[in-house]
Amino acid sequence: MKENMDPGMHTAEHILNQTMIRMFRTGRCFSAHIEKKKSKCDYRFTRPLEEKEIRQLEDKVNEVIRSDLPVNEMFMAREEAEKRFSLERLPEEAGDRIRIVTVGDYDACPCIGPHARFTNEVGKFRIGSVSFDEGVLRIRFKLSR
Ligand SMILES: [Zn+2]
Repeated sequence: MKENMDPGMHTAEHILNQTMIRMFRTGRCFSAHIEKKKSKCDYRFTRPLEEKEIRQLEDKVNEVIRSDLPVNEMFMAREEAEKRFSLERLPEEAGDRIRIVTVGDYDACPCIGPHARFTNEVGKFRIGSVSFDEGVLRIRFKLSR
């Protein structure tokens, strides 16, 4: 996870992850490429998404963005964080005091990256394509501000 990544895109990743969990029970993405212009997230899943599901997913992410939730951080001891979250994607240098990033009461996730202060700053979320190959669902997306 790069610390210089785009805050809006990266905040969209948090919201997309929580929406994927709620809609499809995928868990958070196991791999992500977050760039200023376009990003992609990979999830473990069992099938492709239908067009209707893709639109519902996009709508739900935009609904969270538009509700302008505050993005905050809190800190907890690694021991406590391990009980509540997967620390798999955190780098070693995250240390013993783990930063948890919350998106209103919608999402909470350990993270060292930069984020928007409010979800409304993210802009409009657009899914470019969704592909499925050997148990991996890849979602490509863009933001328009
Ligand atoms: Zn983050």
